[in-house]
Amino acid sequence: MSRRAELAERLASVREQVAEACARAGRDAREVTLVVVTKFFPASDAALLYELGCREFGESRDQEARAKVAELGDSVPGVRWHMIGQIQRNKAKSIASWAHVVQSVDEARLVAAFEKAVSERGGQPLDVLVQVSLDGDGRRSGALPEDVPALADQIAASEHLRLQGLMAIPPLAADPAQAYERLARLHDALKADHPSATTLSAGMSGDFATAIAAGSSCVRVGTAILGARPIPSP
Ligand SMILES: *Cc1c(COP(=O)(O)O)cnc(C)c1O
Repeated sequence: MSRRAELAERLASVREQVAEACARAGRDAREVTLVVVTKFFPASDAALLYELGCREFGESRDQEARAKVAELGDSVPGVRWHMIGQIQRNKAKSIASWAHVVQSVDEARLVAAFEKAVSERGGQPLDVLVQVSLDGDGRRSGALPEDVPALADQIAASEHLRLQGLMAIPPLAADPAQAYERLARLHDALKADHPSATTLSAGMSGDFATAIAAGSSCVRVGTAILGARPIPSP
């Protein structure tokens, strides 16, 4: 089977499963954005997925993403690139040069670094999600739940950033359904303060149906569409 046919088949299956999960939850499938995570896969795969109708792509490493975006150049108009990986502060400027959305902002110093980077590069403001840790130990990436309100306020007050919502990765040990219920409550609290922060980014290949049931409006799917990554993700 050609790579194109393989991607087409898996993409169709994921789209169908997203639609089914939405139907079960009584939600409109148009409420859920599918971000295809192309990390570790070549730009040629993103180009094929573009032909198949994908417009939102997720990447987790600055250097790799920047090269991929440059390689695709003007051939993929309308694409939005999402940074979903852990961020070093000294990479904010580079990330702001290719990303339309940064989903993994988890500390005040990063907010300040992106605000400065976007004000210097000019152009469109940057869409930002706060990544929250559901582990509650702050050692893995993600802000502690109690730190989310102040971070959200800081983003909302930044001239060049737009607060879009909340992102999370399910904790390794916990039951994802429980974790996602807790996440949905954190998102409700965020929306009470910031009504336009409507995005809830949760759900990956193994659990996107559970996340949709809990209110996710953005699922980040890699393996189920592209296959197993050549090396483990960071
Ligand atoms: C790699 C990655 C994904 C995609 O994971 P899959 O299990 O391959 O679908 C989603 N979100 C984040 C933050 C990731 O790093």
